[in-house]
Amino acid sequence: MVTRVRPSRKRCAVIGGSGFLGRHLVEKLLEKGYAVTVFDIRQTYDLPSVTFHQGDLCDKQALLTALQDVSLVFHCASPAPASDDRELFQRVNIQGTRTVLQACMEAGIQKVVLTSSASVVFEGTDIKDGKEDLPYASKPLDYYTQTKIQQEKIVLEACDKEKGLLTVAIRPHGIFGPRDPQLVPILVDTARRGKMKFIIGDGSNLVDFTYVENVVHGHILAAEGLSPDSTLCGKAYHITNDEPVRFWDFMSEVLVGLGYAAPQYHLPYWLVYGLALLLWLFSLLIHPLLAFKPTFTPMRVALAGTHHYYSCVRAKQDMGYQPLVGLKEGIARTVASYPHLRNGA
Ligand code: NAD
Repeated sequence: MVTRVRPSRKRCAVIGGSGFLGRHLVEKLLEKGYAVTVFDIRQTYDLPSVTFHQGDLCDKQALLTALQDVSLVFHCASPAPASDDRELFQRVNIQGTRTVLQACMEAGIQKVVLTSSASVVFEGTDIKDGKEDLPYASKPLDYYTQTKIQQEKIVLEACDKEKGLLTVAIRPHGIFGPRDPQLVPILVDTARRGKMKFIIGDGSNLVDFTYVENVVHGHILAAEGLSPDSTLCGKAYHITNDEPVRFWDFMSEVLVGLGYAAPQYHLPYWLVYGLALLLWLFSLLIHPLLAFKPTFTPMRVALAGTHHYYSCVRAKQDMGYQPLVGLKEGIARTVASYPHLRNGA
């Protein structure tokens, strides 16, 4: 007879815990007294109090080993959006997420918190104060978004109080903060190459950027609020700084904070979008002959040139969410954390 050990209440696993958001989440969970297991395809740091399991989330057996004695799982792993690798996104975000849920069921996990993305409703056109009941994008602009939509559906549909598995999805937008390998390093690299001179559109478009600690806070509130009788089960929640900001003001503040000039010349939005679209079509055409991946994609142009900000009223009402770190403070902390990227450093 197999004796089932009751998972300890405070042990949780962070799938993707070696990543930018994942590591911040791990550190906060430790601070709050959780025992933490990290499951990730790579190990990027070491902490004596964390149990690391290196493995691919598509491998159920590897997951089952890592999930022993765990009751709560945070799933914040995904291939980087910039990879734009359709097959990889499908394998990891769709099939892999199904595998994660199967492993969770088999391991007797009670709660799963998925890191989704607010971009699941973004189709490249303006969204102002978007609520969670907006329909999923019917024409997502890239494979990453396409598979994040599927991933969120799979996780929310798996919520089953009878079977004892509770799920919830957090939809952050534009996460930034110390140790982010994407936003600030790419911005600085572009500035150093003299390519941060232009503003796409008139520069008035408002967007959400969310300081990483606020995203972590939203995840932990969701995990702790998830119970068979809570309203959170099977629902998605926007988590933002709740301070929409002009996209180009945010970028300029980071650039100027690091000693670079702010962009100042305007380019018409539709011209830039059209060029990005042509480049993308061209890359598809030549794909059989040449692997060419433009960095200047329609999604990136749309993200830089449209309004897209989201309401977090639902998170405030259902889980008492309030951002802990304001935007100005978040930017100041972020800038201070990259001394090696300062102009002239
Ligand atoms: P990240 O790339 O820093 O972290 C992702 C982690 O997932 C990495 O450590 C990576 O090794 C791991 N991973 C990838 N494939 C894996 C696999 N097959 N098996 C095991 N681990 C695997 O990314 P991040 O910015 O920290 O993003 C975390 C999550 O937040 C992702 O789900 C992303 O879609 C979501 N998100 C990010 C942003 C943002 O602005 N960064 C915005 C919205 C949503």
